[in-house]
Amino acid sequence: MKRRDFVLGAAAGAGATTTALLSGCTDSGESDKLKKELEAAKTKISKLESAVPAASKGSIEITMVSTWPRDFPGLGTGAQRFAERLTTMTDGRIKVNYFAAGERVKAFDSFDEVASGNAQMYHAADYYWKGKHPGWAYFTAVPFGMTYTEINAWIQWGGGQALWDELAAGYGLKCLPCGNTGVQMGGWFRKEMNSASDFKGLKMRIPGLGGDVIAKLGASPVSLPGGQIYENLVSGAIDATEWVGPWNDSFMKFYEAAKYYYYPGMHEPGAQLSLGMNKKFWDGLSKADQEIIKAAAEVENSIMMSEYNAKNGASLASLISDQGVKLKSFNDDIYDSFGDAAAEVFEEVQAHSPMAKKIHQSFKSSRDEIGAWAKISDQAYVAQRNRVLGL
Ligand code: CA
Repeated sequence: MKRRDFVLGAAAGAGATTTALLSGCTDSGESDKLKKELEAAKTKISKLESAVPAASKGSIEITMVSTWPRDFPGLGTGAQRFAERLTTMTDGRIKVNYFAAGERVKAFDSFDEVASGNAQMYHAADYYWKGKHPGWAYFTAVPFGMTYTEINAWIQWGGGQALWDELAAGYGLKCLPCGNTGVQMGGWFRKEMNSASDFKGLKMRIPGLGGDVIAKLGASPVSLPGGQIYENLVSGAIDATEWVGPWNDSFMKFYEAAKYYYYPGMHEPGAQLSLGMNKKFWDGLSKADQEIIKAAAEVENSIMMSEYNAKNGASLASLISDQGVKLKSFNDDIYDSFGDAAAEVFEEVQAHSPMAKKIHQSFKSSRDEIGAWAKISDQAYVAQRNRVLGL
């Protein structure tokens, strides 16, 4: 657009100059000559305009990295779908070149790749960055946190986005919600989990603050990208793992090494995925392009959640009937121990920094308020519906 503006400006300038010259002419021969020069200049400008390359008419090429394996259902396909949607929505003017985990950088290097400006976008779960600042965890999921509808309410109407912006700006990033897995399962275990003491000495793949919670119970949490979990579980390097839910987990074949599948997960009640962008890149976009990207991300935020909800039920039934998976719920004693441990973790998080405390307080306030409404709306209705219909 800048080149185009420049050319148009030059045209206007040339016209004005020529008109001024013409008005000062008394000799008709000289006037005719100048008129011809004006026409020639106009033709030249017209040719120049049509020759302006697409790149200078506002086309944008984006490098996007991600923490997911290529074509991984839900997470990977959702990130790829977003990339394709953004390109389609702009008829190719904004072109996204997507790289799955390991294709350009390793999964957990996505943050630095985008913060440094080597790439413009990542798709990830921002709790992977909690080692940089615990505040990041709140924008994916935290123990005893919010469901999909609850976290959307906080992000969009409860001040969540502003806090995310403040945190991300400190790292040269701008983030938006771009997908959600919904309530996650508690995880895959080789043995039954009957009390909090069963977590002692357990090596479990569980990232984010959920890992800190089970560490309080004596477990050793590890954070591994999705592509590395199966081999570690099968080899015995880890004893247990959580991942997402029945649909995603069925592709991972964890049931080959661990038969007990526990619910519900306290650690990720609505894991929100993030579109992270280099902030200088974002700030340099037109308002229109920012709105297009926001819209494309918001569509994915909704459509991914729908896909999980549509597919989890059938996958769970298949895991139980076809793979012999034993479905179990964490009992109240274990959940109470999770609650006590989480309270300690949140004290530590708030002591980290004023920013961490500010995020926690905002999150807690929204969760308590929105949760009280959810209790007598969604939850009360679904409980009654399922009771009457025997679901
Ligand atoms: Ca998970």
